[in-house]
Amino acid sequence: MVQFQKGLSEPEFERQFGTEEQCREALIVWRWPDGFSCPQCGGQRHSIVQSRGLFQCSRCRRQTSISAGTIFASTKLPLRTWFRAIYHLTQSKQGISSIELGRRLGVTQTTAWMLKHKLQQVMLERDAGKRLQGRIEIDDAYLGGERTGGKRGRGAPGKTPFVAAVETTSGGKPIRLKLARVDGFSGKAIGKFAKHHLDPGCSVVSDGLRGFAAVTEAGCTHQPIKTGSGKAAVQHPAFNWVNTALGNIKAALSGTYRAVSGKHVPRYLAEYQYRYNRRFDLAAMMPRLCWVGLRTPPMPYRLLKLAEVYA
Ligand SMILES: [Zn+2]
Repeated sequence: MVQFQKGLSEPEFERQFGTEEQCREALIVWRWPDGFSCPQCGGQRHSIVQSRGLFQCSRCRRQTSISAGTIFASTKLPLRTWFRAIYHLTQSKQGISSIELGRRLGVTQTTAWMLKHKLQQVMLERDAGKRLQGRIEIDDAYLGGERTGGKRGRGAPGKTPFVAAVETTSGGKPIRLKLARVDGFSGKAIGKFAKHHLDPGCSVVSDGLRGFAAVTEAGCTHQPIKTGSGKAAVQHPAFNWVNTALGNIKAALSGTYRAVSGKHVPRYLAEYQYRYNRRFDLAAMMPRLCWVGLRTPPMPYRLLKLAEVYA
């Protein structure tokens, strides 16, 4: 079902969000679905400062722009460019490099990089507090350097360890994905991961890497399955979905990026995870990300800090 989904076609996107005015109107509706509300005093009566398109509160006189206090704030970029960036980021299955994004938007690579990382950060914050539930397939992997998604044992400087966990139905169908950078695969690191990202009561299936036993510290049960090594392990049905997800992440990141530096890994993982978890409604992902972006404060200086916190 997912593969054949249409998503939002480019002509349809252009029809809905092709002009600056359409983007502005859309943001107004998404930011204030029940009508304008002054960010300072909560007042609803207002006038529009026509020359600058600002909303002026009739009670406290404060002037507010549609993007003030949101991820779209303090940027010289047209809203239309933001919208197109969101479009490309949510509708391309493999993600998009900042070089390619810059080319499509007609902006420099640096600008495209900033846009992308701000949007990735919105995705990261959005999903950070949501824990997986029920049956979980869990596995460990590395990201970065020349190779991506390799199995443990290949750890080397420049590689960033991360954990992939897939929530499935009791019948084994994948529901949600959680990807998180970890300090390593020790019991301590896995315990920390589990407390952050798994609901107590999850039943976790792993290939028996010793550290995974620590999920019990978060109130989960743990079922290690001996898989042997190499191909047999990868094809074991108990890990079907987590292995598929890791294979896809590997393909997506190595096809799109030459290298991902360690400090940015959480955001790249968050982007992939965000798309995966919303794969059943591709077309809605665009407005939904705008909606969240309007409720995410501007972030030029806390970009890196937050990525560390939620790793
Ligand atoms: Zn006010």
